[in-house]
Amino acid sequence: MSSIFTKIIQGQIPSYKVAENDDYFAFLDINPNSKGHTLVVPKKEDDKLFDLDEDSYLKLMKFSYKVAKAIKRAVPCERVGMSVIGLEVPHVHVHLIPLHTMADANFSKKEELTKGQFEEIANEISRKFQL
Ligand code: AMP
Repeated sequence: MSSIFTKIIQGQIPSYKVAENDDYFAFLDINPNSKGHTLVVPKKEDDKLFDLDEDSYLKLMKFSYKVAKAIKRAVPCERVGMSVIGLEVPHVHVHLIPLHTMADANFSKKEELTKGQFEEIANEISRKFQL
């Protein structure tokens, strides 16, 4: 069965997309640690980051680097943090999280956003990604 992220990539489940190319898809985490928390996902469905071959791993990091730059330009924050967890969704994904304090790196701290806020920040990151 397809993962929830494959369904998002295929458009069967809605998401707040921020960037895409042939191999990767980036969208806002629906339950963000902080505003602008983004997930970067390979379109090819694999479970664990370190089971990827080296080339696939490096390409994912390269795309994540570009998305992180866009987040930093779009979201006022101290820095953009990166985490890989994968305990909830077994489809490789990189968390890119705008950090203001150490608490933003804690996955038990969550921020509630309205649909309008999700749309606004996704558009802003997307615009910066395309620059
Ligand atoms: P983990 O697998 O532990 O790295 O966590 C999966 C992440 O995916 C969590 O931060 C969830 O909030 C996020 N997530 C789960 N379903 C969705 C969805 N439909 N849209 C956006 N983010 C999601």
